[in-house]
Amino acid sequence: AGSGKFFVGGNWKCVKNSLTGRIEVSAQNVWIGKGGAYTGEISAEQLVDIGCQWVILGHSERRHIIGENDEFIGKKAAYALSQNVKVIACIGELLEEREAGKTFDVCFRQMKAFADSISNWADVVIAYEPVWAIGTGKVATPEQAQEVHAAVRNWLKTNISPDVASSTRIIYGGSVNAANCAELAKKEDIDGFLVGGASLKGPDFATIINSVT
Ligand code: PEP
Repeated sequence: AGSGKFFVGGNWKCVKNSLTGRIEVSAQNVWIGKGGAYTGEISAEQLVDIGCQWVILGHSERRHIIGENDEFIGKKAAYALSQNVKVIACIGELLEEREAGKTFDVCFRQMKAFADSISNWADVVIAYEPVWAIGTGKVATPEQAQEVHAAVRNWLKTNISPDVASSTRIIYGGSVNAANCAELAKKEDIDGFLVGGASLKGPDFATIINSVT
């Protein structure tokens, strides 16, 4: 139910061996295709090799700081899935886009780019992360988050299938903490969380995980 975004440093094998089977590990980036030389990038094959089952794609920092566009992110998703690496597909609007009434346009455009590249939705989790809420302490209200989650689920229903709409997990990310998780988790279309800062605080992270039934 919960995804924590803390970094694993040091010895990967040691970390992996100390995890129970209920905990899966995600990378925060992957290259778009096979092979290379693409110095500094990490390939899906490398992730598979070390037993890393997931990758986060389309995070706002990759989109807005590194400059990855919708199509590039969609292709990364397709290649990761083709190698059996599951995808946490991030979408979300900037503050100015929300203020201009473009939240749904932006989220649906980002959804379409993923959908154009994805045929198997069973291995995809969608993370709605309003950019203005990430790392800012300004969490979306449960109503704001629910409104977008419901719209994204409806988008899946219309554009993919009713089955995919009901079975795909849509998680929320953006300043989730131990104090605000319970109200967010009560909302019908919020299926879990992508947690940054609060995942560094063990007891708070446990509270967040346990808030999602
Ligand atoms: C994030 O980095 O994706 C994130 C959601 O961070 P935070 O929980 O700190 O806002």
